[in-house]
Amino acid sequence: MSGDNRRMRLSDLHFDSRFQRELPSDANSSRHSRQVHGALWSDVVPAPVGAPALVAYSREVADQIGVSEELLRSPDFVSVLAGNALFPGTRPFATNYGGHQFGNWAGQLGDGRAIALGEIVTPIGNRFELQLKGAGSTPYSRRADGRAVLRSSIREFLCSEAMHHLGVPTTRALSLVLTGDLVERDMFYDGNSEMEPGAIVCRVAPSFLRFGHFELPASRGESALLNTLIDFTIRNYFPELLSEHPNRGDRIIAWFSVVCARTATLVAHWMRVGFVHGVMNTDNLSVLGLTIDYGPYGWIDAVDHGWTPNTTDASGKRYCFGRQPGVAQWNLARLGDALATLPELSEDSLSSALSVFERTYREAITEAYGNKLGLNDWVDEQGDLLDDFFELCRAAEIDMTIFFRKLAVAEGANDFATAFYSADQFLQQQAVLIAWFARYQQRVNSEGNSDDHKAARRERMNRANPKFVLRNYLAQQAIDAAHDGDFTAIETLHDVMRRPYDEQPGRESFAEKRPEWARTKAGCSMLSCSS
Ligand code: AMP
Ligand code: MG
Repeated sequence: MSGDNRRMRLSDLHFDSRFQRELPSDANSSRHSRQVHGALWSDVVPAPVGAPALVAYSREVADQIGVSEELLRSPDFVSVLAGNALFPGTRPFATNYGGHQFGNWAGQLGDGRAIALGEIVTPIGNRFELQLKGAGSTPYSRRADGRAVLRSSIREFLCSEAMHHLGVPTTRALSLVLTGDLVERDMFYDGNSEMEPGAIVCRVAPSFLRFGHFELPASRGESALLNTLIDFTIRNYFPELLSEHPNRGDRIIAWFSVVCARTATLVAHWMRVGFVHGVMNTDNLSVLGLTIDYGPYGWIDAVDHGWTPNTTDASGKRYCFGRQPGVAQWNLARLGDALATLPELSEDSLSSALSVFERTYREAITEAYGNKLGLNDWVDEQGDLLDDFFELCRAAEIDMTIFFRKLAVAEGANDFATAFYSADQFLQQQAVLIAWFARYQQRVNSEGNSDDHKAARRERMNRANPKFVLRNYLAQQAIDAAHDGDFTAIETLHDVMRRPYDEQPGRESFAEKRPEWARTKAGCSMLSCSS
């Protein structure tokens, strides 16, 4: 790294945790579960594990944080990734936040199984927080064990990297480590618990601050703490607002507008690629607009706005695919409520900032679908073309990813047959599809049909319509193999997901629609929060 060929060592890494330096901490240093008032973090040391083994890592993330692959794979570094050792000079901690869960205020939640290792400062001055998920209990664990199982850790590792390569803002995953210990879980909350292998993911992000970090002090009337946190957040993560808005009240409103805009852009991305977060509680929404907390998430196979991967959400479908934009806006309103506890912020200015969400979302989703359809001027057509496509998806199960990928190259309606989950449904809807595709082609041709235009359109569509997404059953196959001791499927899937918009000849099997056996299999179509 430094020009000479000297091997990089742990002691070469530079840490400096602004969160700890600039925000108040809990005076109590014990691990026991409790309510923590007037503080944003508590000291907590990861609990050691039996036999750490590095199962997967992201070389891109290692590079970004300035860690050589050789150092990352070394036993000393793996010890840190497993919670058995600390980076020199660091003081691990858990942060304090609350949240609205499934529409209800849940009070204090906090990092129940995430332990922050501090902020790494790269040689070029970039900063990233490192966090171990599953490294043992904290004052915020309530009655849970602070651990994570292998299956959910594989899902988090693969999906955060897949999302990044898809161009969706997200926290990253540096590593996946097996702990060598077993963890007891009741996957379907039906009294049948099992011992499962434990694992730890090291997550990386500029910050893991959530809406709930702001809601908790607001709910307790701790306005000094709330003010300190807001100033910290703006100073460190939105510094351009300091000079743009010398008046503090205006600045906070401007910050809230940016959070609304980023959240809107984020959700438009989710809708574009067919991602369903599954637990959009306010404690699981990042103020930086990153996808955070990969739990019972899922990917749309057949287009279905009512689909939710989360078994806990099966009856209410609060967090189903189609409701994500509305839920994001609801969550932002809860963040707005927290800010409204500050007397200098008027309701009017907060609600006008909140309206940024709707405007930005409409623009972002319009642009996203313009790209997906390969149309420049398609807005007026939305009434027919896109709505009629979604109407068709109510009559037949049509794979979202395959359909849109095909759209760039299809010459006739029959080219879409492979996107249909049922051959009968395809035959039933064939006439409708033929008519739809004819109208679509007419629309496309009206925007230009020179060879150059066609090539540019295809190129643009292929950058908006991934060929490969982390289909639920693919992740589950990698999990099943890992439980049998074979970790190569994780590496292969990770590698496929590095180039989701490329054709990748020879890897067609990763782009196929969900096989029938996976329709109702646990992990492939339904997931619980137990992880
Ligand atoms: P989630 O719905 O996974 O985002 O979690 C909601 C809350 O429960 C957060 O405060 C988590 O830290 C906490 N939590 C979830 N699983 C565990 C666990 N195994 N041990 C301790 N806390 C947990
Ligand atoms: Mg969470």
